[in-house]
Amino acid sequence: VVAEPENITAGLSTAQLAAVNHGAGPMVIVAGPGSGKTRTITCRMAHLIQARQVPAGAVLAITFTNRAAREMADRLAAMLGGNTDLPFVSTFHGFCLGLLREQGGFDAVVLDEYDRRILAKTVLKRAAAGKADGLPGPDRLLDMIASAKQAMLGPGDDLSGVARETAPDLLATLYGDYQALLAENSGCDYEDLICRAVDLLEGHKDVRQTAQQRFVYIFVDEYQDVNHAQYRLIQALAPAGGNICVIGDPDQAIYGFRGASAAYFQTFETDYPGAARFFLEKNYRSTQTIVSAAYHVITGQDDDPGRVRVYSDIAGVPVVTVARLASERAEAVFAGRTIERMVGGLGFHSVDFGKAGYEAPAGLGFADFAVLCRTRRQTEVFADVLESAGIPCHVVSKQRIYAARGVGEAISLLRLAEGQATFIDLEKAGGVLYGATAAKKQAVISAWAKERNLPAAEVLAATERFPVPGLSQAAQRRLAGAARTVAELKARTGHLPVAGRLRFLIENMEPLATLVNGSKKNREAFDAAVEAARPAGTDATAFFDTVALAADADAVMPGVDRVRLMTLHAAKGLEFAVVFVAGCEEDLVPFSGYGDRATDIDEERRLFYVAMTRAKERLFLTWAKNRTLYGKRKACTLSRFVADIEGDLKEQAEVETGRPPKDGHVQMELF
Ligand code: ATP
Ligand code: MG
Repeated sequence: VVAEPENITAGLSTAQLAAVNHGAGPMVIVAGPGSGKTRTITCRMAHLIQARQVPAGAVLAITFTNRAAREMADRLAAMLGGNTDLPFVSTFHGFCLGLLREQGGFDAVVLDEYDRRILAKTVLKRAAAGKADGLPGPDRLLDMIASAKQAMLGPGDDLSGVARETAPDLLATLYGDYQALLAENSGCDYEDLICRAVDLLEGHKDVRQTAQQRFVYIFVDEYQDVNHAQYRLIQALAPAGGNICVIGDPDQAIYGFRGASAAYFQTFETDYPGAARFFLEKNYRSTQTIVSAAYHVITGQDDDPGRVRVYSDIAGVPVVTVARLASERAEAVFAGRTIERMVGGLGFHSVDFGKAGYEAPAGLGFADFAVLCRTRRQTEVFADVLESAGIPCHVVSKQRIYAARGVGEAISLLRLAEGQATFIDLEKAGGVLYGATAAKKQAVISAWAKERNLPAAEVLAATERFPVPGLSQAAQRRLAGAARTVAELKARTGHLPVAGRLRFLIENMEPLATLVNGSKKNREAFDAAVEAARPAGTDATAFFDTVALAADADAVMPGVDRVRLMTLHAAKGLEFAVVFVAGCEEDLVPFSGYGDRATDIDEERRLFYVAMTRAKERLFLTWAKNRTLYGKRKACTLSRFVADIEGDLKEQAEVETGRPPKDGHVQMELF
């Protein structure tokens, strides 16, 4: 059955229609949260194809996450009907990877976060053995290298702008070693994709022209969060006067800590003179109350006279609830209780929030709720409490999936079977393939292989034919056994979809099966990985790309009726009927930073603003009297941002979760 195309522009406002119907040339849409920016550009893409006969393949949209790309592609498919080509919708990294594969003879393996960390540790270990002083930790090193790449700086460039407390010379050495190690693994990392694509486009006029001729209409959503490398990519793809459309909201710029700069948004009209500018002023997502409260927060410090105030005509509960709880656990209990009652159809009045005693919208499911936290650690407390109360929830975190035991090993096994393995895969899979004893000999095996110039994927097979000096006969036999296992794996599962291959692994391979099935958390993570493999079909490379390019926000699992628990950052672009922003306390909101990694208060404010504006109907801001932070129990004070919300827009409640009744306090029992 071929779906009928929808009426694309039905229901759009005049302002939105103006952007949809705009002719050719550069354009910028700047507007606040929930004003329909993403919807407007999606409609414009469909309109170009349907009404203006632009070939779908000439339209490119770049989104911030894979999840956003998927959503947009689904919307486009619904709007255009089932039998047309669809525009190319991708993330920056996904787009660059495609371009490199197609144009640049690129065949490197894109390493995921966990493999990158292994490389960083190796680099640091070698440096420490060489008596280097003032070495950073592996995460910090990776951060600095990423910052350098985001600024398009190589190891030979002046790194003082990104080196922070590490000596720039030392960073240059470590960065160089890291790149060498990447090359040795025929790998490249996440940020390399953009740098290499920029180099390719800037350095090869023919490639650039081909790309420019192919993508005639380009859209970039969330443009306030592009970094220098991404900006250069756009510059290379869209010539002056081209049909480049950028969309964004400087008030929602939250990735400065990753090298993004809203300045590119501000200079768009200088970069593309004559660009048409569109404003959207109406918020279609949230109630008036939520829109106003969020406005107080964003204007709390500087009342930018140029800021266009967004309005909403959605009526609803006239207050935002600010609830103080005894502890972080009580905070989670409160959320759980509230969700339970609202999903139970009991409405808001069953929880007596004083003024806010209004009816809950009918038919709320668990998926209509989100709990947003500043740190990943907080989401774990919520997961714990909600799960034990029987409330289905889902932590939106790729770490939960890909860092779980068994998942990485399984993926490495697949890579070995596919002939796309790195030495890191060999090491990771080694543990489950030939056991810990031989795994200890890994260094011997790797050194031997590198001496013979063997690619990692061929090492196991080679050990069947050539003995590895320094290994016992028993270890040698186990290696040969491993080689046969991998060959058999390939023979028996090579034709299956990737998801099926993963399944096969945990049904047939010990000790992997025990490792995965031994814990609920591992098993759930494994199932999530199987789910993530589904869209790839039988294309293993597509799945490896998914893993390497995954962001937290991609792990959102649409269509599953569970409460979503995620970080404030991961919530960008999303919307939920009911939102809890947890930990609304000084030190968390604004976040005082991990160790010496200072945060930018203005960016923290924007982040809180992003979080608040995810809510459609009901917003709860919760905070704890006492909380454990960095291993210390401490008394908390309410976030300064919450204090910026005008008094009559908020209802402040002291919520007890299990003590005897107290006058004027909302009563809730512990589960
Ligand atoms: P953000 O800044 O958070 O990314 P946005 O500006 O991209 O927000 P959208 O996500 O496109 O906003 O739209 C917000 C919500 O409003 C969506 O549910 C969308 O379907 C709805 N919406 C947008 N325009 C209209 C309209 N004209 N009529 C009714 N609903 C609309
Ligand atoms: Mg949007």
